[in-house]
Amino acid sequence: MVQELYYINTGFFKLDGGAMFGVVPKSMWSKLNQPDENNMCTWAMRCLLLKTEDRLLLIDTGMGDKQDLKFRSHFSPHGSDNLIQSILDTGYSIEDVTDVLLTHLHFDHCGGAVSKNSDGVLSPTFSNATYWTHREHYNWAMQPNDREKASFLKENFNPLLQAGVLEFYNESKKIWPKEIKVRIYNGHTQAMMAFEFDFNGENYLYCADLIPSSGHISIPFIMSYDVQPLISIKEKSELLEYAAQKNSYLIFEHDPKIAAAKVKLNDSGRVILA
Ligand SMILES: [Zn+2]
Repeated sequence: MVQELYYINTGFFKLDGGAMFGVVPKSMWSKLNQPDENNMCTWAMRCLLLKTEDRLLLIDTGMGDKQDLKFRSHFSPHGSDNLIQSILDTGYSIEDVTDVLLTHLHFDHCGGAVSKNSDGVLSPTFSNATYWTHREHYNWAMQPNDREKASFLKENFNPLLQAGVLEFYNESKKIWPKEIKVRIYNGHTQAMMAFEFDFNGENYLYCADLIPSSGHISIPFIMSYDVQPLISIKEKSELLEYAAQKNSYLIFEHDPKIAAAKVKLNDSGRVILA
């Protein structure tokens, strides 16, 4: 049973509004997330900390802070929150984390999993944790296509494999935390994991990049980053219908303001925020 839930804010970053909303015209998306003078919108990197009977699970890690200034200048990380402090603020220590569940290996989801010390040595941030990814996704990230290459930074996950702390969800179900149900999606990237669990009598869905913000509820609002946008549409429609039926909370990893919301069907059968 999930006994405690904490949103772990790891700060904000910027991504091009056009890239985030795909074919949707700016006149529409700019009402949902106001861009700056360079068309860049602010997005959260919202992780999750879940306490179960015997484990402390961290879902995703934000982008971390080990990249150089040039890399960071493309994404303008900002805000006062960071991964480590946000975990400490819950009362738990970094050593308490037993499992790090990575939805996928894009830098803004797994960058905080590996830290760089003052000598430039890379090592797992959470020294007592098992790190989880999906084998099919890991293989996909290790031989990246030209569109996603810039998002898969090997320094974010190779040190986990080298340290022997990386587990693959497919092969290790026996030690996978039983409270967390995995949903696999292929529209955004190959074999991304979204997570479902119950807490306090409510059902929660951590959508990762399938529904990155509350502004992405509407079906055609699909990111240009997605490798298979028509698959994303199908996957998103199914998830939204499920969430509406089950009265689930959707957790939005990138929404700058709304951490979680429920959805409902309107009179014309469209899914909208409840
Ligand atoms: Zn992504």
